[in-house]
Amino acid sequence: MAVIERPREKLSTLDGVNLMFDIAASCLGLKESMRQLLRVPYRQIQVEVPIVNDAGELEVYTGYRVQHDGARGPYKGGIRYHPTANMDEVRALAAIMTWKTAVIDVPFGGAKGGVMVDPRRLSARELEALTRKFTQRLGDFIGPYRDIPAPDMNTNAQTMAWMMDEYGRRHGFTPGVVTGKPVELWGIRGREEATGRGVWLALDEAARQWDFELQDARVVIQGFGNVGSHTARFLHEAGCRIVAVSDVDGGIYNPDGLDIPDLIRAKNKGIPVPAYRDPDARRVSNEELLELDCDVLIPAAIAHVIDLHNAERIRARIIVEAANAPVSPAVDGILEGRGIRIIPDVLANAGGVTVSYFEWIQNIQMQAWDEDHVERELERKMRQAVRHLMEVAEKENVDMRTAAYMIGIDAVARARQLRGF
Ligand code: GLU
Repeated sequence: MAVIERPREKLSTLDGVNLMFDIAASCLGLKESMRQLLRVPYRQIQVEVPIVNDAGELEVYTGYRVQHDGARGPYKGGIRYHPTANMDEVRALAAIMTWKTAVIDVPFGGAKGGVMVDPRRLSARELEALTRKFTQRLGDFIGPYRDIPAPDMNTNAQTMAWMMDEYGRRHGFTPGVVTGKPVELWGIRGREEATGRGVWLALDEAARQWDFELQDARVVIQGFGNVGSHTARFLHEAGCRIVAVSDVDGGIYNPDGLDIPDLIRAKNKGIPVPAYRDPDARRVSNEELLELDCDVLIPAAIAHVIDLHNAERIRARIIVEAANAPVSPAVDGILEGRGIRIIPDVLANAGGVTVSYFEWIQNIQMQAWDEDHVERELERKMRQAVRHLMEVAEKENVDMRTAAYMIGIDAVARARQLRGF
């Protein structure tokens, strides 16, 4: 087996994904031609998204959609609105979706989209105009059997409702074109909290295998958006002690544990995390928060927040990647050498796309599942994927991230081969 050294240098998100691809492809002994096929995305789309703002002025944004691989099914992945969204990052995130759908075994390929915009600066009307225009510009590159967007960073069920409506203007009623829709509009109960529920299930199953006691474990969560806040709730309900959380404005730390239900109520009222009143808590910056002494660290915000500058100072015993690519693969070895275990993104946050799959099934069959059924099926898929991944990691003597990429790449390469070229 060719050993690929992990460079000790700062990598972009795309470099990190490509490095992991090379490592896992080498472990699998994948042919060079197949490597090329799986490394390069199938299609990269860049569009101009002009809108008229509330002041009557023209504003022009740039939108991206990358369809990485569709051998196992329609392209699938979220759409994010972020000031730093760019083609390379979207490309990395699209590849992550390809491996994620294969690891959790849902019949989709991988895609990702983004618009370079700071959504906090836009009114609801402007956001609607932006979403509709972006949907128009994506045209027939999306569709229920072609490419199915979903929410991601700074987008939500409302965004998906606008996308579905805009797509429907040209194609008629087509709820299966997007997932993560409002429950009143052909969405599925349990989708909103699905990623957070999946993070909890992944950790719970891994903890069982490791004989690691989750009861009263000290948990730190970076990011208190959809994923972070629901993860906090599930872990709190499971008996963990959530000692610190943060949002983009900063965080709070209380070694005795934070009152998570109350923090969520405050968040829903629009109160930023650092402005939350807890007399026993102290404020921490996002950087400090990552370095707090804890049992479980859950980065649930942006990419590569754990990198060469702080890897030596991380004091958690387990890192669960609720965000996409929050740990640079350049530091996996440093963390592992210090005895820190990582549950990788392609497994840890796969609950979202799994319930997206359930939503899509409902939509194309014009059926409705009840919430218990969604929860049971999600739990079954998450626990099964964790056990399978741990078996592969042990058998191949690799870390969990390498094992996840090996499972994903192997499944996609087989599908490609079977389809023929
Ligand atoms: N944006 C989510 C992710 O990164 C969900 C994608 C989906 O449901 O298609 O996994």
